[in-house]
Amino acid sequence: RAKSLGGNRSERYDESLEVQLMRRSMLTAELPGADRRGELDLLYQPIVAVDDRHPVAVEALLRWRHPQLGTVGPEEFVPIAEAAGLIDEVGGWVLHQACRRVASWRAEGRPVQVAVNLSAVQLRESDFVAQVAAVLDAYEVPPEALIVEAGEADVVADVPAAVHTLGGLRALGVRVALDDFGTGHSALTYLRRLPVDILKADRALIAEPVTPGTPAAPLAEIVVRLGERLGMSVVAEGVETAEQLSALAAAGCGYAQGYLFGRPMPVEHVEAFFELHADGVPRAIGPSTVD
Ligand code: C2E
Ligand code: MG
Ligand code: MG
Ligand code: MG
Repeated sequence: RAKSLGGNRSERYDESLEVQLMRRSMLTAELPGADRRGELDLLYQPIVAVDDRHPVAVEALLRWRHPQLGTVGPEEFVPIAEAAGLIDEVGGWVLHQACRRVASWRAEGRPVQVAVNLSAVQLRESDFVAQVAAVLDAYEVPPEALIVEAGEADVVADVPAAVHTLGGLRALGVRVALDDFGTGHSALTYLRRLPVDILKADRALIAEPVTPGTPAAPLAEIVVRLGERLGMSVVAEGVETAEQLSALAAAGCGYAQGYLFGRPMPVEHVEAFFELHADGVPRAIGPSTVD
């Protein structure tokens, strides 16, 4: 039922269409200025090296702390922001916040990278590269400290725009990740000409059920081999169990992210995570060997 009403938000499974429409129009009306009112919040989820669980990067994940509705997740309000022409405001806030944060970590001697998710709308903006360059400059962040994540589906929806924007970002020295890779919006035919450093294997590949007698995580392993052949790093998304991690280690996967290591968390918790798992000093995902 809930699915056919345009979403898979099971927590609102029982809500009527009317309630959902009211909620949507309320969110649309109240989103403008949410950044200035201090209602947006960034959580950070660690990305770790598979071999020794050393943190290498954090992914910035957006939340809207709505004064009446409580926390609203990005899968609900990012599409609303896009439809309402507010994604520049929201995306700009995310970029500033994440760059300010990584600048201060680096100033404290933690050379971690921060990954920021791009909206399909940002991918299509001709001046987006210049916006990013200006923000990096403003916070004196070295470009290789920033990873931009573009979803496979968004890239496939407009390959020329993605090549332009991601290529421009990469020319700046920013690292580019292809997010949700392997979800069926296959970028495979374009992969060789996409300016990509990192493949993020989607959670669905990692959670793939294992058939007795077959190797664990065969699809994840194919993504790892693909990354090797193309000179790209591979990050496995949504790793929840020790079994999944050992299958990934056996497949030679470089990096992983998921609840097994840590949930998206506030800054203080990330710092505690660094202290615990890296003596406070994370390292970075190595440069890709793609030219
Ligand atoms: P994503 O970029 O693929 O991010 C990973 C999502 O999986 C996050 O959901 C994260 O909390 C969740 N996750 C991480 N580890 C696990 C795990 O082990 N198990 C499970 N079940 N889930 C895990 P979240 O934070 O709700 O974000 C959802 C999506 O919203 C993101 O997917 C991304 O596409 C989008 N998003 C998040 N922040 C932003 C943003 O600042 N801007 C834009 N444009 N989109 C954003
Ligand atoms: Mg992402
Ligand atoms: Mg992802
Ligand atoms: Mg994903």
